[in-house]
Amino acid sequence: MNFYSLNKQAPQVSFKDAVIQGIAPDKGLYFPECISPLPPSFFEKIQELSNQEIAFNAIHQFVSDDIPNEKLRGILTNVLDFDFPVVEIEENVATLELFHGPTMAFKDVGARFMANCLGYFSGGEMKEVTVLVATSGDTGGAVANGFLGVKGVNVVILYPSGKVSDIQERQLTTLDQNITALEVDGTFDDCQKMVKTAFLDEELLHNMQLTSANSINVARWLPQLFYFLFAYKQAASFGKEIVFSVPSGNFGNICAGMVAQKLGMPVKHFIAATNSNDTVPEFMKTGKYLPKPSTATISNAMDVGDPSNFIRIRHLCNDDFENLKQKLFSFTFSDAETKEAMKSIYKNSNYIADPHGAVGYLGLKKYQEAHSDTYGIFLETAHPVKFLDVVEKTIKEKLPIPPQIQKVMKREKKSISIATYSNLKDFLLKN
Ligand SMILES: *Cc1c(COP(=O)(O)O)cnc(C)c1O
Repeated sequence: MNFYSLNKQAPQVSFKDAVIQGIAPDKGLYFPECISPLPPSFFEKIQELSNQEIAFNAIHQFVSDDIPNEKLRGILTNVLDFDFPVVEIEENVATLELFHGPTMAFKDVGARFMANCLGYFSGGEMKEVTVLVATSGDTGGAVANGFLGVKGVNVVILYPSGKVSDIQERQLTTLDQNITALEVDGTFDDCQKMVKTAFLDEELLHNMQLTSANSINVARWLPQLFYFLFAYKQAASFGKEIVFSVPSGNFGNICAGMVAQKLGMPVKHFIAATNSNDTVPEFMKTGKYLPKPSTATISNAMDVGDPSNFIRIRHLCNDDFENLKQKLFSFTFSDAETKEAMKSIYKNSNYIADPHGAVGYLGLKKYQEAHSDTYGIFLETAHPVKFLDVVEKTIKEKLPIPPQIQKVMKREKKSISIATYSNLKDFLLKN
């Protein structure tokens, strides 16, 4: 299968080249040339399939021959070696827990899949690749963990100094080997700007093969569609129309869900729940897309003012606003509302939600006010201990620290401080 650039000014490329390049030469996002629905029998019999088989059926058409089938199955077995349970917390309200992976963030699946693909491609004649990624917290840890020790791939992670949690910082600064953490004196937006500048820097591009491990990369973005299929597998027999509420920042996860719908998965609606960074909820009201600088919230992995994947969602709906409105609802919530939700979920259901999951819960509840006859699933995108301070303060309980987190807390932090783009460029050219 080929992928084209949404800016339409670059040649089509294979899956392999789309993964290695990250973004097209015209700076557009890559998009699959077609999305062929799976046969209805796949969805009718989904409960009989293992997660690996479901994933293989769903992703195979996009990867096509760039990775042989047996190899692809092996990669999926590696990547999907943990559970994705749907946990009911109220009548017709369930959460899909996506935090059982090695860094306890939902980004583990995409990061590991991409790392395995690049690792496979580097076994060929591919020259060394540098993966450059900006993180507001969770991406960095998942990418660092997923790419650790992958031959032919160096990973450089930029994160805003003092603006990620202690656990998140340890997850991305303590691994060594082919992983380097650059601690940026600035905000997440500054980190992202530096990464974007690097991708436009002819001198750098001439000297090295740079790629991105943010959800603009198709190998990070597309495997997220598995989650929705795994949830559907568990909830299809409940006899109600299913809706998904997705706590959204760059809108890669929800966009992947909409690809699963294109593959034929029955879903009534998607709900994009955001924190106070409300560019998309505003767009859904007015039809005007007005990006703005991000504001800091307690659900910081969603502090995005100009979501990079929203263009893919619009494209999926043929850039037709009316069509989009049939599929997608979007609501915004303040930090105060998010904390109230965390408290009430804990009090009423004895369930501890992290701030991102709580935003998803709020989106679902708001939607169900007008659609009470649905079965709602909100995505829990991070384990609550990843946001320990705010969770403990809000629900007034101490959380036990899971073993995979205890392990990193003992390791020593290593980072290189930078402040400007030229610091980043010097680092990249020297290493
Ligand atoms: C990245 C992230 C999100 C947002 O996902 P997008 O695909 O960027 O919309 C939500 N929650 C957590 C915990 C995340 O790390």
